Amino acid sequence: MTADETRIPVAVLGATGTVGQRFVALLDNHPWFEVRELLASPRSAGRAYYDAADWIVPAPRPAGLAGLTVRPVGAEVDSDLCFSALDASVAREAEHQLARQGKLVCSNAGSWRMEPQVPLIVPEINPEHIELLESQTDWQGGIMCNPNCSTIGLTLALKPLQDRYGLARVSVVTLQAISGAGMPTTRTLGMLANVVPFIPGEEEKLEREAFKILGTFAGDGVIPASFELAAQCNRVPVMDGHTLCVTVELEEEARRDELLHTWRNFGGMPQDLELPSAPDPAIEVHEDDASPQPALHRDAGGGMTVHVGRIRERSPREWMFTTLSHNTVRGAAGGSILLAELALATGRF
Ligand code: NAP
Repeated sequence: MTADETRIPVAVLGATGTVGQRFVALLDNHPWFEVRELLASPRSAGRAYYDAADWIVPAPRPAGLAGLTVRPVGAEVDSDLCFSALDASVAREAEHQLARQGKLVCSNAGSWRMEPQVPLIVPEINPEHIELLESQTDWQGGIMCNPNCSTIGLTLALKPLQDRYGLARVSVVTLQAISGAGMPTTRTLGMLANVVPFIPGEEEKLEREAFKILGTFAGDGVIPASFELAAQCNRVPVMDGHTLCVTVELEEEARRDELLHTWRNFGGMPQDLELPSAPDPAIEVHEDDASPQPALHRDAGGGMTVHVGRIRERSPREWMFTTLSHNTVRGAAGGSILLAELALATGRF
């Protein structure tokens, strides 16, 4: 690989997995970042990247990485910016170690998300929470997190409603893709023509992370948002793309035309700053009855657009809708890259 001095070198941890491969694919030809280091478990260490990674991303393998050898997590990392797609069992310690070494870590695991000093960010919603990096005084570097993949789609759909009408109560039923369960295994076969009404830890993550993301930054911490939220999570036989069926009770009455306008006109700092991974629009509103669908819509905006459709009024304060987002792009690697772009554009490194 030829080093491009104009781009910032980055390391991808967990590079062989489902999310790690997405990072590698999305960072190929990225205008600001260049993958220089790939790390994974001892099972993959010492092997050429494409021998170690069973490539499952529906995109060509970046040719420039063919010569890179995977190194074990824990080995010394040169890059100052690290994208972590590590399994939760090892993420906490590995990411902590990198932060102690002065690295800025963009984490996709659940390990650090709810720590008070760690920003949990969807860049269109709460970019100001990045200030929490200043309160990370126990280490030289920084840790910032992406929310859980379903939480990202949910909170992006809720944020415009929270700002305009206020949220009283939210109920969400998820239909989550197979790729959200990591690399396919023989257990994945049990997902064919089937629905599994349990994803370990997922309902709890949805029910706590949304309050932090939609909460108010208060200098040295976040005051959580206050509304009721109940989640039921299901794994369904879809390759990529999480669909969420949402019922929301607003604090103020809404009219259908203004509701659609509110979603359509939603954007944030990523769109204002024209960050490379920012979709425009951030939210695509569908008015035909059969949309959104994962197979048709998940790749819009490079997989970064969130979709809202099937919008139905039960009363002026109670609405039902369906939202869809790409779980390994917007819900993981793409969201993390957008967060790093925000950090760079706002002078965090
Ligand atoms: P995955 O496909 O199972 O990949 C896990 C990665 O972690 C692999 O690169 C694996 O390396 C590495 N790893 C596992 N055990 C390790 C160990 N003991 N030491 C060092 N590295 C180890 O999982 P994934 O779906 O990509 O998810 C990665 C992380 O992102 C998880 O924390 C997950 O919760 C989170 N996440 C996933 C999604 C999604 O939609 N899939 C969305 C949001 C967040 P080897 O290949 O060498 O074993």
